[in-house]
Amino acid sequence: MRIYLDHNATTPVDPVAAEAMKRALQDLFGNASSLHYYGQQAKAAIDAARSAVALLVGAEPSEVIFTSGGTEADSLAIRGAAEALEPTGRRHLITSGIEHEAVLNTFKALAKRGWRTTVLPLDASGVVSPDRLRDAITDDTALVAIMHANNEIGTIQPVAELAAIAHSHGALFHTDAVQSAGKIPVSVRGLGVDLLALSAHKFYGPKGIGALWSKRGVRLSPLLSGGKQERNRRAGTENVPGIIGMGAAAQRALMKMDVEGARLAALRDRLEMGIVSAVPNTDVNGSRDARVPNTTNISFDRIEAESLLIALDLEGVAVSTGSACSSGTLEPSHVLKAMGLSSHRAQNSIRFSLGASSTDEQIDRVIEILPRIVTKLRSLSAVGSR
Ligand code: PLP
Repeated sequence: MRIYLDHNATTPVDPVAAEAMKRALQDLFGNASSLHYYGQQAKAAIDAARSAVALLVGAEPSEVIFTSGGTEADSLAIRGAAEALEPTGRRHLITSGIEHEAVLNTFKALAKRGWRTTVLPLDASGVVSPDRLRDAITDDTALVAIMHANNEIGTIQPVAELAAIAHSHGALFHTDAVQSAGKIPVSVRGLGVDLLALSAHKFYGPKGIGALWSKRGVRLSPLLSGGKQERNRRAGTENVPGIIGMGAAAQRALMKMDVEGARLAALRDRLEMGIVSAVPNTDVNGSRDARVPNTTNISFDRIEAESLLIALDLEGVAVSTGSACSSGTLEPSHVLKAMGLSSHRAQNSIRFSLGASSTDEQIDRVIEILPRIVTKLRSLSAVGSR
C-alpha cells in the first residue's frame, strides 16, 4: 500500500480539472488577446476560470491576476506594492519568521535595496501575536505580509486582526493563502486584506499556475515588462490550460470543502493521537486550536527527521520534513526555529499532510508501523535529546 501524506507539498490533479485541461490543450489554442473567434474562445474560458477562482476567496473576478504560481503571486504582491509605494517615502516592511521562502527571500531582496525590514518572532504556538505587530509597526511601514495558514504546522493566523492593525497605520496587508485556500473558507473581505496569494497545485489543480488577488485601487508595479495581459499587471501570453485547470480545481474545492474538511480533521486527529500515544517522547508542534484540517507536525525525540522520512518511504509512506538538506548539512526548519524550538526539536520533526486519497485504513497502517520504525532508529541514533 502506498500512502501519500504530503499534500501540503503538492496534490494530484483532480480528474475533473485534468479533463478540463485536456480539452483546453486540444481545443482552446487561440491567444486570448486575439480578436478573432479562436482568441475569444480562449478569453471566455479564462474569464470563467477567473470567476471560479474569485468565488473561492469571495472576490471580484476583475481583481484576480493569474501568475505562474504562489511564489510569483507573493513576489508580485510584496515587490509590486513596495515599488509602487516608493514615492510615498514609506520604507519599512514587516513579516513573520514562519513565512514561506517566497515571502522571506523577497523581503531579503528588498532589504538589499535599502528597505528596512522587520521579521516578527513567534512563540511555540506558531501564531503571530497582534501585540508584536503593534510594537513593530510605525507610520513608515508600507506593507505587512503575514501568511494565512502555515505550510509546515498548519496554524491559522489572526489575519483580520493583524490587517486592521496594519491599516490603522496606513500600511497595506498581504497574506499568503496558498495553504488555506481550498482547505478552509477564505474571504478576502472577511480577512480585510489588500493582497492575497493562491497556488493551484495545493488544491488539486496543476502546478505552475497561481493567482494574486489585489483589491481594487491597490497599485502594483509589474514584475515583468511586456504586453498588457492581466490588465497590465502580469505580462505574457496566458497559460490557458493551467488557468482552466485552476478554475476547475477551485470550483471542486469549494464544492467539497465542508465535508472534506470535517473528514480530514477527524482523520488527522486520529493519526496525531495514535502517534502520540503509541510512540513515546513525541510532541505536536504548534497550536492545535486554529489549524487547517489536514496538517499535523510531530517531533520525535532522538530521531533525525530525514532518517524517519526515508524509513517511512521504504514502507510506502510519503511524509515531509520542514528542513532542507543542502550540501550535506541538515538545516533545521526555519519555521520551527522561528517558534523558538530547539535545533534538536526542529530537526526531529515530521509533517503529515492528509488529503483526498487519505483513508482510515492508511491512518491505521501508519500508526501501526511507526512505533517499530522509531524504536529501531532510536536504537541506532547518535542524535541527542532536547
Ligand atoms: N507559500 C506557501 C505557504 C507555500 O506552501 C508554497 C508552496 O510550497 C508557496 C507559497 C509557493 O507556491 P508555488 O509552489 O505555487 O510557487
